[in-house]
Amino acid sequence: MPAKESLERYRKKRDLSATPEPEGDDNKTSKGHIFVIQKHDASNLHYDFRLEVNGVLKSWAVPKGPSTDPDVKRLAMPTEDHPLEYAGFEGVIPEGHYGAGTVMVWDTGTYRNLRHDKENNEISMEDSINKGKIEVWLDGKKLKGGYVIIRTNLGGKESWLLKKMKDDMADPRRDPVSTEPDSAKTGRSLEEIAGEKGDKKE
Ligand code: MN
Repeated sequence: MPAKESLERYRKKRDLSATPEPEGDDNKTSKGHIFVIQKHDASNLHYDFRLEVNGVLKSWAVPKGPSTDPDVKRLAMPTEDHPLEYAGFEGVIPEGHYGAGTVMVWDTGTYRNLRHDKENNEISMEDSINKGKIEVWLDGKKLKGGYVIIRTNLGGKESWLLKKMKDDMADPRRDPVSTEPDSAKTGRSLEEIAGEKGDKKE
């Protein structure tokens, strides 16, 4: 799907003249593989997990945030595609607007698609998403190693589960959501971001 169509829901939900969030460029054709996890202090604190796929950020809201323990599954609710520019967004969405609250770049980096078929051909990220099984290697500042995201339909509603894969980077004793709460981009806490001045778009 072209980025323009894919970002329709994102734009419909927002008054982009009144929130500092990026509008997004439909012609972005980055071949990169960005991942970002944004800590979002909205009505309920959650972590927005986003993967760059075909020029947009595929997104899931993870209420409890990611775990580094392969025995822990975390609920991940799909949300609308976001523009690539969103990956760098840290700031405050004003009261009365969709997602009102503070957004922090909690972790960011690049990812690698780990899925291959029996002949060892890569299964595209798009196919992985359509089939409801994603396996990626994250190379972030806080999270590293394999993660799997699997679609399950709990109670008839589309939901996914995020889980650390069993590899050398798995560590049940780590709990970065609580021990590394600050921004991977600026080192700021949620309170410091919330207190920033002049965060309006020019
Ligand atoms: Mn959110």
